[in-house]
Amino acid sequence: MTVFLLNPGPVTLSPRVRESLLGPDLCHREPEFFDLQDAARAGLLSVYDLDPAQWAAVLLTGSGTAAVESMVASVVPAGGRLLVLENGVYGERMTAIAECHGIAHETLSGDWLDAPDLDALDERLASSPGFTHVAVVHHETTTGRLTDLAGVGAVCARHGVRLLVDGVSSFGGEELDFGLPIDAVAGTANKCLHGVPGIAFVVVRRAALASAARRAYYLDLTRLAALQDQRNTPFTPAVQSLYALVEALAELREDGGWRARHERYGHYAEAVGEGLRSVGVTPLLADGTSSVVLRSYRLPDTVTYADLHDGLKDEGFVIYAGQGELAKSIFRISTMGDLSEADVERLVGVLAEAFS
Ligand SMILES: *Cc1c(COP(=O)(O)O)cnc(C)c1O
Repeated sequence: MTVFLLNPGPVTLSPRVRESLLGPDLCHREPEFFDLQDAARAGLLSVYDLDPAQWAAVLLTGSGTAAVESMVASVVPAGGRLLVLENGVYGERMTAIAECHGIAHETLSGDWLDAPDLDALDERLASSPGFTHVAVVHHETTTGRLTDLAGVGAVCARHGVRLLVDGVSSFGGEELDFGLPIDAVAGTANKCLHGVPGIAFVVVRRAALASAARRAYYLDLTRLAALQDQRNTPFTPAVQSLYALVEALAELREDGGWRARHERYGHYAEAVGEGLRSVGVTPLLADGTSSVVLRSYRLPDTVTYADLHDGLKDEGFVIYAGQGELAKSIFRISTMGDLSEADVERLVGVLAEAFS
C-alpha cells in the first residue's frame, strides 16, 4: 500500500522526484555537479522571483535546522544583538542556537497558542536599543500558526532592525514578501518544495553577507556562498538530494509556482478541517490564523493519539503528534507532498470513521 506522509516533512514524493534520485553518479568536483548546484540555486531564487544580484541561495547539506543555525550564527554580525520571538518549539530552537554560538540575545516569549505580540515587540525594540536583528518563525509548525510577517516587518522597519526568518515549513507554500526588511530566510528541500531530506538552504541578502560573522565552521554561510558563487563547494554535498531538489523545483514551476501550491494546500486543509468538524473535532487555532501547510486539531477525550495514529497508519496515512505540552491534547495533519484530490477524499473518510 502507498503510504502518505501527513507529517511536516519529509513529504510523499511524486514519481518524477523519486526517479530523479537515480541520476548518474557524480563527483562533486566535476562541472556536471556545478551545473546541478547552479540550477538548484537559481531555481530557489526563482520561486519568489528574486534578483540574483541582490540575493543568494546558499545550499547546505543537512536538515532544516542546519540552515536555521547557519543563518543565525552567520548573519547576526560580530557585536550584533538578536531578539528572538518565541511561540513554539522552533522559536525556542533559535534561542538555543544563539546561546550555543555566544550571540548576544534576548527573547520575547508568548504562549504557544498566541501570535507574537507586535505591541510588545515595538516596546522592547524602543526600550532596549542595540538590537540589530529579530528572529521569527514564519510558520510555527508546533501549532500550525502563520505569523503576520508583514506586521513584524513593519515594527522592525520602524526601529531599523533586520529580520531573520525561519521559513523551513513555509518556503514554497506560503507568501514570503522579500520586500520586508529581511536579511535571510532559512528553508529546506523536503517540506513545501517536495524534495527529499539532505539539502537545506539560506536565501540571504548579499548586502547582509558582507557584514556576516564567522562563528561557525561547517555552517559558515560566508564561505558557502563565496565558493558556490565560484562554482565550487567546500564539502561533499548530498548529490542525490540535489537531483531531487532540482526536479522538485521544475515540478513546482510547471504546476504554477508557490501560489498554485498554496491554493492546493489550502483546498486540502479546508477539506480535512470540514471533515473533522462534521464529526465534532475542532481546530486548535482560531479560523484564519493557521497556515495552509499544516493544521492542529484538538484530540477528543474519547480517543488516544496512539490509537488514532495507528488506525490511520493501517489505512496508509501517517499523521503527527503534538510536541511538548501539546503532546497529549492535539494531533497535526499536513497536506504537503504529492497528494491528489482523491487521496484527500479517502483521508477525510478514514478520519470520519476514526472519530465516529
Ligand atoms: C521542520 C522545521 C525545522 C527543521 O527541522 P529539521 O528536522 O531540522 O528539518 C525548522 N523550523 C520549522 C518551523 C520546521 O517546521
